[in-house]
Amino acid sequence: MEFTVEKTKTPKARPTDDSKLGFGHIFTDHMFMMDWDQENGWHDAKILPFQDVPLSPAANCLHYSQEVFEGLKAYRTADGVVQLFRPEENFKRMNTSCDRICMPKIDVDFCVKALKALVELDAEWVPKTYGASLYIRPFMIATERNLGAHTSTDYKFFIIMSPSGAYYEGGLAPVKIYVETNFVRAVRGGTGHVKTGGNYAASMKAQEVAEEQGYSQVLWLDAIHHRYVGEVGAMNVMFVLGDEVVTPELDGTILPGITRKSALEVLRHKGYKVTERQLDIEEVVEAYKNGQLKEAFGTGTAAVISPIGELKYKDLVMRIHDEKIGPISQMLYDTMTGIQWGKIEDPFGWVVPVCKLDD
Ligand SMILES: *Cc1c(COP(=O)(O)O)cnc(C)c1O
Repeated sequence: MEFTVEKTKTPKARPTDDSKLGFGHIFTDHMFMMDWDQENGWHDAKILPFQDVPLSPAANCLHYSQEVFEGLKAYRTADGVVQLFRPEENFKRMNTSCDRICMPKIDVDFCVKALKALVELDAEWVPKTYGASLYIRPFMIATERNLGAHTSTDYKFFIIMSPSGAYYEGGLAPVKIYVETNFVRAVRGGTGHVKTGGNYAASMKAQEVAEEQGYSQVLWLDAIHHRYVGEVGAMNVMFVLGDEVVTPELDGTILPGITRKSALEVLRHKGYKVTERQLDIEEVVEAYKNGQLKEAFGTGTAAVISPIGELKYKDLVMRIHDEKIGPISQMLYDTMTGIQWGKIEDPFGWVVPVCKLDD
């Protein structure tokens, strides 16, 4: 398959102050779009000016949440190279999501090719400031005009892009997390392992309650025993217990994060002891009481590494590493962002260069 390119005749003014970008509300000049129907499969692939799209109010996705999405970033190095981080992993994961939500699969190589063309076209939109980046959102929606609760006959796939500010304006600040013992996010056999909007809709109430109590996110426990650690907000979570880095195994209820996978590879590469297994929250409490809870942090594309400074479980408030970032969290942050922004060598072959800007 090929795609066409229609360039905008009215380019927008690009933001000039990277410190005021925020997240997710400014969009670049172009987007990618293609359609799927039963007769033609994927077709009409194109890069076109960023615009609103007509959608029937009866479109399937609006009623039954048949939609999946991805999130990745483009980075600009000090030399002006614009590059992506493991983009094929995102499209592969999207196919896992499509399978679970009964949506048509995409061609991973074709989507990487289209994404590179889109990023190259809007390359000037990739912020120059270290820490700021171009956030990329591929997503797919069911568009059949039909209120029947069944899988759709029509789909649209998009890639839109948004320049975003540095996640940490004032350095890597540890966050306060609240262990959720009432609401649950996912259960085995459900959709916790795929990136679909419904998971987010289901998690907003807990997020709201956590914020009311002065916490930035919740740590989810398993839905049956309310014991086993899952994820924190929309990030995977890792604990340093003694000299071991422990993270919940991929049991079907947690999202297989690309940052999680990469962080594990960095840790193993550097010789740390790493275990993926079921982790009981009581074991974390026990480790805390014995002085063995050294560090805790979330991993995800947005923040890369988000150190946890305070963890509240029932009446117990656990302060971790003096509410400062610990050495393993810092090492992971420096290594991963170093590779992404081209400050250090990439021994893993994760970075995919797109183009070079001369500025
Ligand atoms: C996207 C996401 C993550 C993190 O995945 P990355 O690929 O590392 O960005 C973790 N948990 C949930 C629920 C997510 O949606």
